[in-house]
Amino acid sequence: MTAASPRRPETIAVTAGRPTAAPGEPLNVPLVLASNFRAGTPDAPVTEYSRDGGTATWHALEAAVGALEGGIAAAFASGMGAATALLDLVPVGARVVMPTDSYSGVRALLFDGAALGRWNVDQVDITDTAATVAAVAGAGSDSSGRPADLLWLESPTNPLIDVADLTALCRAGREAGALVVVDNTFATPLGQQPLALGADLVLHSATKFIGGHSDLLTGIAVAASGDMAARLVRRRQLAGATPGALEAFLALRGLRTLAVRLARAQESAGVLAARLLEHPAVERVRYPGLADDPGHALAAQQMNGFGAMLSFEVSGAAAADAVCRALRVVTNATSLGGVESTIERRAKLAGQEHIPPGLLRFSVGVEHVEDLWDDLSAALAAG
Ligand SMILES: *Cc1c(COP(=O)(O)O)cnc(C)c1O
Repeated sequence: MTAASPRRPETIAVTAGRPTAAPGEPLNVPLVLASNFRAGTPDAPVTEYSRDGGTATWHALEAAVGALEGGIAAAFASGMGAATALLDLVPVGARVVMPTDSYSGVRALLFDGAALGRWNVDQVDITDTAATVAAVAGAGSDSSGRPADLLWLESPTNPLIDVADLTALCRAGREAGALVVVDNTFATPLGQQPLALGADLVLHSATKFIGGHSDLLTGIAVAASGDMAARLVRRRQLAGATPGALEAFLALRGLRTLAVRLARAQESAGVLAARLLEHPAVERVRYPGLADDPGHALAAQQMNGFGAMLSFEVSGAAAADAVCRALRVVTNATSLGGVESTIERRAKLAGQEHIPPGLLRFSVGVEHVEDLWDDLSAALAAG
C-alpha cells in the first residue's frame, strides 16, 4: 500500500484541532468556560489557571492554525494583542524596519513604542525589495549602520494591497540576524504560508477572515520554533492578552469554512476588480489578481489565489463618501474578512495621510457576485 499524500490545506482546516477519535467523543472540542482547574502534583503537573497554559478550546484553535501555517500557534485576545506579544520579542533599543503601508493599528503601536524610546523605527516601501534589503542590512534612514533586529512585513498590505517579495525579504532578514514577522491577515492561512517562505513569525487578526462573521475579536501568532512559541505564550501569560473562550471557539468554527468562503470571495473579487478597472468613475484598482497590477507576478508565485481584498480609487473624498452612502448590499464598515462585503474610505482615519483620499478598501464577501456588481455600479453612478 502506498502512503497517503499529505493532507491538503482545505482538509486540514476541517480536520485539525479535533478531540481524539474515540467512540462517544464529541466531534468538536467543547467550549471550556474555566479560569481555574484542580491542582496537579509535582509528579504530574497540570495547567491550573487558564492564563498560564490555556484551555482545550484555545488549544484546538491553535492546533488548527498552527497546522495550516506549519508552525506553533498561540491565540490572543485580538490581533493587536498578538502584535504586542510579537514586538515584545525584541530588546529595548531594537531597530525595527516597518512598511510605509501596513495596518493602521500596528503602525500606531510601532510609532508609540518609538516615541517612548522602546525601539527605533525605519519605514520602507516593501514593494522596493532592494531598498528594504538595504534598510534591513543597516543602510536605513536612521544612519546608525546597525542591521535591523526586527523586520515587520505585511503582504498584501492594508489598505494599499502592496505585495512584498517575502522569500527575498525573509532571506535578507535572516542574513542580518533580524526576526521577520509577516502579518498574514489579508492572505489568510490558506492563501499564503510565510513560514515556508522563510519568516520566523506570522500574525493573524482572526477577527477577520478566520473568524469570518464579524462577531468576534481574536488574534493568533504563529512561530517557526518551539522556543519562540514558548516566549509568546509567556508574553500572553504575563501581559494578559488572553483570548475569550467563546471567541476562540467561534474562531475555530469560522476556520472550518474558510476554504469555501475564501474560494467564493476571491473569485468574486477577481470579477469585480476587472469590472471596476473598466468603469469610467474608477481611477485605479489595486488587486494582485489583475494581470497588470504591480504585485501580480509575486502574488502568483507566493500566494494560493489573490485574496478577497481589493482597493479602488474614485476622484476624491467626497465622491468616495458618496459611494459609501449609496451602497445597499455592501456595508460601509471598518472591519473586513466577513461573509458580508464591507467598504471603507481609509483616508478618513487618523494617521492614514499616505492613503489617497478617494481610496475605498473593499472586503469582498460571499454574496452573489452580480448583486455586488449591481450595487457597486449603481453607487458609482450616484457618486
Ligand atoms: C485588523 C487587523 C489587525 C488587528 O487585529 P485586531 O483583531 O483588530 O486587533 C492587524 N493586522 C491587520 C492586517 C488587520 O487587518
